[in-house]
Amino acid sequence: MSVQPVKPALTESRSLHQLTRQDLAASVNLFQKGARSARLVLPALAVPGGLLGGALLTMVASYFRLPEAVQPASFLLGWAIALGGFWVWSRRQRALLAECQLECGSCHEPMLVVKRGQLTSRAEIAAATGRCPACGDALFEGTT
Ligand SMILES: [Zn+2]
Repeated sequence: MSVQPVKPALTESRSLHQLTRQDLAASVNLFQKGARSARLVLPALAVPGGLLGGALLTMVASYFRLPEAVQPASFLLGWAIALGGFWVWSRRQRALLAECQLECGSCHEPMLVVKRGQLTSRAEIAAATGRCPACGDALFEGTT
């Protein structure tokens, strides 16, 4: 299944009053697919990878009795990779969220909300009830 036909529909009309439940489901789907893509998974892996790599390098430097400056340098390098990975991951996640975002036509509250790296079910609640979870207004034409 391709996600391409969804994108123009999302960018053409940002007001939920002209949208359908399928648009809401598609935006959730698009975000979840993007979150599992290498673009986000690789920088996320750099966090434990950097910390573990830095710790290993520190132990190796100690074992082989390398010059004293190698240990703090490898420790700092590990942290730099981990923090860099986190920074890239959070930037890309924010960009993905903005790309997939839909907002309520009445109160302009976003339908996709990420808390602690997890997508909350606001869009799913909206799709199920036909109403904005923030202001309670009807989201789709024909819902009163
Ligand atoms: Zn609303």
